[in-house]
Amino acid sequence: MHCALLSGPDDFEGWRTAARGLALAGVGPADIVWQAGGDAPDLFGQDRPPATAETAGFAVPKAFVELAQMAILHREPERFALLYALLVALRERPGMMEDRADPLVRRVEGLAKAVRRDIHKMRAFVRFREMQDADGPRFVAWFEPEHHIVRANAGFFVRRFASMRWSILTPDISIHWDGETLSEGPGASASDAPAGDPIEDVWKGYYAAIFNPARLKTGAMLSEMPKKYWRNLPEAALIPELVAGAQAREAAMIAAPPTPPRIRPATRPGNAQGAWAALREEAVGCTRCPLYRDATRTVFGEGPVDAPLVFIGEQPGDQEDLAGRPFVGPAGQLFDRALEEAGIDRGRAYVTNAVKHFKHELRGKRRIHQTPETPEINACRWWLDQELGLVRPRIVVALGVTAARALLGKAVTISRTRGTAIALESGAEAWVTVHPSFLLRVPDEARKAEERARFVEDLRQVGQRLKALA
Ligand code: SF4
Repeated sequence: MHCALLSGPDDFEGWRTAARGLALAGVGPADIVWQAGGDAPDLFGQDRPPATAETAGFAVPKAFVELAQMAILHREPERFALLYALLVALRERPGMMEDRADPLVRRVEGLAKAVRRDIHKMRAFVRFREMQDADGPRFVAWFEPEHHIVRANAGFFVRRFASMRWSILTPDISIHWDGETLSEGPGASASDAPAGDPIEDVWKGYYAAIFNPARLKTGAMLSEMPKKYWRNLPEAALIPELVAGAQAREAAMIAAPPTPPRIRPATRPGNAQGAWAALREEAVGCTRCPLYRDATRTVFGEGPVDAPLVFIGEQPGDQEDLAGRPFVGPAGQLFDRALEEAGIDRGRAYVTNAVKHFKHELRGKRRIHQTPETPEINACRWWLDQELGLVRPRIVVALGVTAARALLGKAVTISRTRGTAIALESGAEAWVTVHPSFLLRVPDEARKAEERARFVEDLRQVGQRLKALA
């Protein structure tokens, strides 16, 4: 029996070194005890084979390495053994990673998926409270991850809050950033973190401002903000009140006289909503392109799954990234007003983005928008295609060149394409116009008013076309 000693529960490099040596020595999975950071009894002595020239030449598919780096962070005690069993099996069947039906591959993928979700939850639900220490303000957050993700997530928080001094306390480990150096400390308890501060009012005000009762989906809200994290989220205190208010309004709407019929009756199969929810859930852990690394979360589309009209924007902005919803920032508010003027009910349209993560660069404390590159647009096209395949709209409106490229698969010039319907393979019509953020950037007031009127006119034309198609 061999005992492979790892320095901690997330010691991927230690596991890799030991696993290489043990596999090359022909040791079977059943003959190894994996011991992480002294949390298991040392019954069999220690055996940590060094990395040699021979073991360094041990080749495995890149897909396995990426999967193992995630799966090893799971709290499942068997994870080291499962990964080793997969490693050994891969030596016999190098194409095994492509066999998604294989029980071992599926099991390890399940672990990795749970870890990815936990990583995204930490990014979305950590809330800092301000306190003072000898060097001035320090922002402290308490978080309880499900898995061993804190070290793996540290780089994200360093990039995201580079100019702040902060600490994230968790039961297993604490991480501290002093503006230059990241350090680690022992685990903590919730009482070690401050309970509240004036920043909470900012979060509450912001959350109440973006809360739209007309689009309330309690289930989606709870999956986006699971109850487990409510006690750490200042804005969560508002949820019962906001939900109750929305439900009262909904009851009043039910009691009111019926509204005119929809432009197009629902034709989606009964499980379309479920399929959409599953798709949205899957997108939470997407790593198809590098943009997931620095953004807070995936911002998926929203709206009725039987909407006859879909709007595609470019990507979430700073506020959308924080709120987790598309078109809630300044451009989204301008878009709402323009839709209203054009006589289009946004509640009956599905709105989404070509790219689902916020691409930006940090300048001091500010996150500055960056235009997505073609590979990122192409990677994210997979999600857009799934959304369009589920919603099956009559008309899809691309807002701006990035959305047009994603929708049409090629670069287009807006001035040449706006105002004309383009037939899509699905049978739907594509229309192209500017992105509302363009209108915010026009410096000259007279020209801004002109461009805005033109944008509203484009939307009005779309609305009329939709009525003609009904
Ligand atoms: S931008 Fe799109 S493809 Fe890239 S990681 Fe995010 S969801 Fe995935």
